Amino acid sequence: MPKLIPHHINGAQVETQGRRGAVYNPATGEQSGSVCLASTADVNAAISVAKKAFPAWGMTTPLRRARILNKFLRILEERTDELAAIITAEHGKVLSDAKGEIQRGMEVVEFATAAPQLLKGEVTENVGTRVDSHSLRQPLGVVAGITPFNFPTMVPMWMFPVALAAGNCFILKPSERDPSASLLLAAWLEEAGLPPGVFNVVQGDKEAVDAILHSPDISAVSFVGSTPIARYIYETAARTGKRCQALGGAKNHMIIMPDADLDQAVDALMGAAYGSAGERCMAISVAVPIGEKTADALMAKLEPKVRALKVAPGTDPEAEMGPLVTKQHYDKVKGYIDAGVAEGAKLVVDGRGLKLQGYENGYFLGGTLFDNVTTDMKIYKEEIFGPVLAVARADSYDTAARMINEHEFGNGTAIFTRDGDAAREFAHQIQVGMVGINVPIPVPMAFHSFGGWKSSLFGDHHMHGPEGIRFYTKLKTITSRWPTGIRSGADFVMPTMK
Ligand code: NAD
Repeated sequence: MPKLIPHHINGAQVETQGRRGAVYNPATGEQSGSVCLASTADVNAAISVAKKAFPAWGMTTPLRRARILNKFLRILEERTDELAAIITAEHGKVLSDAKGEIQRGMEVVEFATAAPQLLKGEVTENVGTRVDSHSLRQPLGVVAGITPFNFPTMVPMWMFPVALAAGNCFILKPSERDPSASLLLAAWLEEAGLPPGVFNVVQGDKEAVDAILHSPDISAVSFVGSTPIARYIYETAARTGKRCQALGGAKNHMIIMPDADLDQAVDALMGAAYGSAGERCMAISVAVPIGEKTADALMAKLEPKVRALKVAPGTDPEAEMGPLVTKQHYDKVKGYIDAGVAEGAKLVVDGRGLKLQGYENGYFLGGTLFDNVTTDMKIYKEEIFGPVLAVARADSYDTAARMINEHEFGNGTAIFTRDGDAAREFAHQIQVGMVGINVPIPVPMAFHSFGGWKSSLFGDHHMHGPEGIRFYTKLKTITSRWPTGIRSGADFVMPTMK
């Protein structure tokens, strides 16, 4: 009997009646859970709990909030293995990778523990004679996070530590494909001292998301997921008067210049293309070697490594790559490989048809490598989100840079080279939000901000770091003068400095 996966509302696990979603173990294909899918009324009930909790939490001192986050950080440190096991069981990624995502999430918690410093305003003495100005950053109220399946803890932790540190209450709507990890996060936050109702998890799908978008009591929405949904979230949130940051899909290119250290580039490509079975928004899915000689040398080194990839259940300590998240996603990725073959790309390594003994019903796909991919192909234009690397040869750096700049997405990109001029030109001219120079997955650290350009992000703010603080606070500027006995009479012109 699959276990029932509840919500977490007002400090307690809550089971609701109504629709349920099936949750699977991707390594075996067996249903492991049945998640409650919130109705509009369920979501509204959670929002009203958060709304009640807001006045007290908003007034809690930043130092006290920071201490709670500090304790939460220590719990995460001690229980990383427990959380990683839950991620692997529902997502499928290998355990070491699950621990890696927790680590990256913890870094944002660590950043948010600096709340008293981060929330400081600015002061100017004497903006006019005996007139002073100061600014405050105040919380928004109840804010929501809607998150994707591929990072069930890291992506929520891009959002809620900063939101809570700033004094907001939070509604998390995790992916219905791997919902269990969010319940541990909620329980541990409260164990660390967070008052009930400040952080709530509502499980659900489109109905829950729409309830969040249409609630007048939600002030801001953070979203991470695919581009069509990100666009929908952003447009709907704008119509309903909410602040919104909506991060979408990606197609990240890596340029390999003729002078690059090829062994280093190949190792980097292997991890960046096939780590987490390519289910990362910062995965490299297109390699662009410059010139035929570089391309041939790259392929010669890449092909045997792709063939040798160790694909196994995420719990196998030897595994480099686990299964895809669901049967539906497996079919979608396999469909892209079929399309690449039909479009005339050269299939060098074919991951279709991989079967693991004892795991015949798991959603395993082997590492797949295409050569001679061109910009008009569906496998070049669209995000695949699987272990499929496309090699698109370019005759020059300029051609490669143009390919990247003309692509719909602008999340991440990298260049491998020893040429400082080329690297500098790339960093300055490329139309992408996160750029790596001899770094394949340039995910910014927690004290910088994460976000792409073009169809990879809708809204003005990137996530966490300084942008996160700005997103989750509103600015108030106070101008003050104290009576001094000086009277200048009524003034009807625009106030200017006297
Ligand atoms: P998804 O868009 O299917 O789902 C994301 C969230 O939206 C989930 O919580 C889901 O329940 C909800 N949702 C799904 N369909 C909806 C609908 N019709 N209306 C309202 N809400 C809906 O994304 P996914 O498959 O879970 O995640 C993979 C995608 O996320 C990839 O495109 C990947 O690139 C992207 N992603 C982007 C980043 C980034 O930082 N840019 C990071 C991680 C993942």
